[in-house]
Amino acid sequence: MKFFNTLTRKVETFVPNVDGKVNMYTCGPTVYHFAHIGNLRSYIMEDVLEKTLRYLGYDVKRVMNITDVGHLTSDGDTGEDKMLKGAKREHKTVMEIAAHYTNAFMDDCKKLNIKRPDVVEPATNCIPEFINMVEVLLEKGYAYVAGENVYFDTSKLKNYYVFSNQTEEELKVGVRDDVSEDTNKRNKSDFVLWFTKSKFDNQELKWNSPWGIGYPGWHIECSCISMKHLGEYMDIHCGGIDNIFPHHTNEIAQSEAFTGHKWCNYWFHVHHLVEKGGEKMSKSAGNILTVSVLEEKGYNPLVYRFFCLQSHYRKPLEFSYEVLDNITSAYDKLKKKVLSLKDDGEVAKDVYNEYRSKFEDAITNDLNTSSAITVIYDVLALQVNDATKKALIKSFEEVLSLGLFTECEEKKQEISSELEQFILEKIEERKAAKKEKDFAGADAIREELLSKGVAIKDTREGTIWELVK
Ligand code: AMP
Ligand code: ZN
Repeated sequence: MKFFNTLTRKVETFVPNVDGKVNMYTCGPTVYHFAHIGNLRSYIMEDVLEKTLRYLGYDVKRVMNITDVGHLTSDGDTGEDKMLKGAKREHKTVMEIAAHYTNAFMDDCKKLNIKRPDVVEPATNCIPEFINMVEVLLEKGYAYVAGENVYFDTSKLKNYYVFSNQTEEELKVGVRDDVSEDTNKRNKSDFVLWFTKSKFDNQELKWNSPWGIGYPGWHIECSCISMKHLGEYMDIHCGGIDNIFPHHTNEIAQSEAFTGHKWCNYWFHVHHLVEKGGEKMSKSAGNILTVSVLEEKGYNPLVYRFFCLQSHYRKPLEFSYEVLDNITSAYDKLKKKVLSLKDDGEVAKDVYNEYRSKFEDAITNDLNTSSAITVIYDVLALQVNDATKKALIKSFEEVLSLGLFTECEEKKQEISSELEQFILEKIEERKAAKKEKDFAGADAIREELLSKGVAIKDTREGTIWELVK
């Protein structure tokens, strides 16, 4: 397996710390809003990386955090607390907001066939671990207390800017609205490990610590959560490119100061999903599209996955509905072909092995997903029985997870327009009944639809339906 390691700025052959095993960590979402399809691009590509490693026979353990405290709008130590911002916006508590958007994120991942990591850990579960790490950093002289906060002293490191030889100014491009200077900092690049003198009077989540009541900085959570589950040596750390600085740079600084040795060997970063004109899709800029919006517009979420896999993870990907429409028709055609494959006998072993290795060559070559998809088309064009084609594409699906063998979507497309009209009318009738508080009537409509094999579900964007057996 070869992929681009941001640490060495080279495409490298992957060699794990322990033969056959992979320790992998993913920076999870900040759950103050729905994940947008840009965030999900990163998670889709990380999912493909994980599944490729499993396909190759590695025993993978993947951990992801859920950021429910400490992440400020600047990614550094300035701006507002993102969680508090979400809670204020929706007149809810921070924990309510966190639970709601964590569930929404997991639902979106399911729809995109993104496997749930083996461990998913919210930051607020790990406060004792954060405090312990900060204490050790203080003991070792890598941290200091100033203005009642605890800071990491970046001048104590030989090389703080580990990613490339970029200067601080170049790296600051990735930092959003980093305006106010914190006069407690000894060096400009120092960062907060623990906020004790709260920046926010109304900070909702705070804990006792040796430095007073406060809350952790954002970066410390990934160092601690990964070490809690994966130990002091990690193979692959993933995230979007905006995480390179300051987040991943700070994670490395504090983790290596804490352990006294190199922490993670490979850094995998996914480039951004951008709007037309090149602007990054971002929650804070407000230009976001979600999976639910795509669904509302009639797109299958897996078409979005297909769209992401058609381009390389190391290039910006421009989103447009025109392209998504083209991709939809390509996806539908492909799926129709795959679903029509018959079980017509024995798998031709030699052809199977040959095309499996073609697929493997593509996907292990710096995760060349579009070439891997081309291998599906090559297989479909082969002069060989359907059983062989089916077996091959099924094995590729272990990595690509495009839902090519899932029948239900196809069924929905083939449903008569008459029945569809009937369903939509019934949904409207039920909506009106509920408005009139006629709940018995609304339930009767649900039962009537179910008797015709149609199940309905109320979601945050309205009522959706599906055919059930
Ligand atoms: P956040 O919820 O903001 O902490 O971000 C979750 C993940 O999405 C991180 O790995 C980010 O690097 C990544 N990300 C943020 N914006 C984009 C984007 N426009 N395209 C791809 N990945 C992104
Ligand atoms: Zn992280």
